[in-house]
Amino acid sequence: MDFALGPEDEAFRDELRAWLDEHLPTFLAEWDGEAGETGETGFARAQERRRAWQQRLNEGRWAAINWPRQWRGREATPVQNAIYAEEMARVRAPGIYNANGIWQIGPMIIRWGTPEQQQRWLPSILNADDHWCQGFSEPEAGSDLGNIRTLAVRDGDTYVVNGQKTWCSSAHLARFGLFLFRTDPETLRSRETKYSGITAFIVDLTTPGVECRPIRDLTGDEMLNDVFFTDARIPADARLGGEGEGWQVAMTTLGHERVGTAGLSITMAADLRAMVAAARSHNPDALRDPALRERVGRAFAEIELTRLLNYRALTKIQKGQPNWPEVPLAKLQWSSIAQTLAELAVDLLGPLGLCARGGPDAVDGGHWARNYAWQRYTSIGAGATEIQKNIIAKKALRMLASR
Ligand SMILES: Cc1cc2nc3c(=O)[nH]c(=O)nc-3n(C[C@H](O)[C@H](O)[C@H](O)COP(=O)(O)OP(=O)(O)OC[C@H]3O[C@@H](n4cnc5c(N)ncnc54)[C@H](O)[C@@H]3O)c2cc1C
Repeated sequence: MDFALGPEDEAFRDELRAWLDEHLPTFLAEWDGEAGETGETGFARAQERRRAWQQRLNEGRWAAINWPRQWRGREATPVQNAIYAEEMARVRAPGIYNANGIWQIGPMIIRWGTPEQQQRWLPSILNADDHWCQGFSEPEAGSDLGNIRTLAVRDGDTYVVNGQKTWCSSAHLARFGLFLFRTDPETLRSRETKYSGITAFIVDLTTPGVECRPIRDLTGDEMLNDVFFTDARIPADARLGGEGEGWQVAMTTLGHERVGTAGLSITMAADLRAMVAAARSHNPDALRDPALRERVGRAFAEIELTRLLNYRALTKIQKGQPNWPEVPLAKLQWSSIAQTLAELAVDLLGPLGLCARGGPDAVDGGHWARNYAWQRYTSIGAGATEIQKNIIAKKALRMLASR
């Protein structure tokens, strides 16, 4: 493992640091007194803050570092991606408005879109003019997207779409989304063919016949959505890639693999310090409990382990080696620590840890209680724990499933 940065990477880091030093404090000052990410005005208000921050980043050409230079990107290397994640975490920069659009959908349009499609959609993602979502999952297709059934049938210059998507993050705020539909229902007949009958489309969510219904989750927020399609006519020129190429479109990255959890070790360590500080103020006896003290120490060690796992993945990429099993291991590690920390926080705070926002005794605006519920998602979203374990068993340990 090599921890030293080369001159180009140091220059990248220094330029980013200087830009953040100049722009982040003014941005935060402008938003002072406004509702933050967990403020009482909720998710929609937090999204406006994210929009403003993404637009500020784009002004400095820091919004889409992996995109080509012609699209205000920097064609960042994997090491620069890790630097970017760590620097953003170090200053606790706000999240961005189109995270899905910048990191996933934009690269798919750059790789698969015609020049006309790129002109039509990329600026809206980049400058946060519109919110973008992603519609892959369905009630019968999540871990295995080969099972999707929402049907798109060609009819002249349009496709007629019928079916249901689910768990679409922030679709109710989105104008556009990347959706996967089945264009060849025959391919569903066998395991071998089911990935080949899927086609990708960019859907304008204001199209008649498209309806978003928010789902209230266990935190009480409405961030997730069902999206229903009833004879919705999607123009054929909104198809991304060819018919049957949807699976390849969905698997696209911009060549450089990201080490997606770089930076998390910094935010998680900061969270751990914050919860110890909260306990010191509100429930100091907890910090004398040997069992809790051991859990705090163990959590610090696990966070450091995750940091080193990320560096090992990076080193492998630099040597031209595949960066797994570190990637599925890091996802497992991240979801496990996130849930461990969420549970530790409520235990450190004692009964106050469960006081929800709005209540007079809620600590830090009820953040820790909400986080306890919210973190259940980390072992489902972005690849469920069991699926990651299957990947590790199959690819890293070369264990074959018996039929
Ligand atoms: C917060 C959040 C945001 C999301 N946002 C989006 C979004 O924007 N767009 C979108 O399309 N989707 C989104 N999803 C959906 C997410 O991708 C799916 O929930 C995830 O892929 C799991 O699919 P599922 O819910 O259908 O569960 P299932 O696939 O039905 O899995 C249920 C359980 O069975 C286990 N399991 C499944 N298959 C296997 C197997 N082969 N071996 C062993 N165990 C198995 C799983 O690990 C899991 O524990 C989001 C989910 C969450 C929680």
